[in-house]
Amino acid sequence: MTDEKPYCARCKAYIEGHELTTISDGLYNKEVLRISENTTQELPVCAFDKDGNFQKENWMCMTMIGLRDMSSYHGWNEDESIDVVHTLNGEYVVLTYYKHRGRTGNALVLCDDEQRNLTLKDAERLLEVD
Ligand SMILES: [Zn+2]
Repeated sequence: MTDEKPYCARCKAYIEGHELTTISDGLYNKEVLRISENTTQELPVCAFDKDGNFQKENWMCMTMIGLRDMSSYHGWNEDESIDVVHTLNGEYVVLTYYKHRGRTGNALVLCDDEQRNLTLKDAERLLEVD
């Protein structure tokens, strides 16, 4: 990696845990991760910027996937998915995404009095407890 991306520890560990390889569709070369002998996967695009703020341009961020796995409610409506994770202090983390795909479109912390964007700090605190 030439820059410090990705910023979350789970994306970093996932990338470091797999061999980086190049595939070609005949026109373009692309760096991907080798998952098994015959399987490759696109590199994750972390859902957090350098300040730990959620960013919508993301793909298979391992922190977001970890939160989905903790979800206590999964909803599905016309291909739109929602996952709700309970926090310890009475808040909810709400994640939205298309079908079961890798991009998380929204990640909010909600309670009756407040709504704000999820931060990496929020996510890591939740995942540590899990
Ligand atoms: Zn990430």
